[in-house]
Amino acid sequence: MKRAVSLFLCFLIVITGFGGKSSQNTSDGSKTVYVTKTGTKYHTEKCQYAKSAKKKSLEDATDAGYDPCKKCKPPILEEDDDDDDEVTYVLNTSTKKFHYADCTYAKKISSKNYKETSKSRSALIKAGYSACGHCKP
Ligand SMILES: [Zn+2]
Ligand SMILES: [Zn+2]
Repeated sequence: MKRAVSLFLCFLIVITGFGGKSSQNTSDGSKTVYVTKTGTKYHTEKCQYAKSAKKKSLEDATDAGYDPCKKCKPPILEEDDDDDDEVTYVLNTSTKKFHYADCTYAKKISSKNYKETSKSRSALIKAGYSACGHCKP
């Protein structure tokens, strides 16, 4: 009986080891996605919408503002899926600064310039925002 259990454990280790390797292989190199002329989404090769679509690298598609298609679930650029520590930043759309939500200056932003976002820090900087010098987000 003991032997059976240890055999089973070995088997598990082999399987999980294997899984790790193959997922590493697929993340090698840049990913290719497909965008259509009129659409705002990017797709995988197999998606029905990709028939009349152009090839693009995942990075280019993300930079150009395309969103992942909900149907075919294409890969997402790693920068965007930091779901371990999801931080909400507060934007001042007038001064182009971003704050932590509990910053005293964030609370002073007038409601028409006030915007909350779950975008990553680097995405905000790419979009032209700069970090508040007070709360240093
Ligand atoms: Zn699609
Ligand atoms: Zn601040």
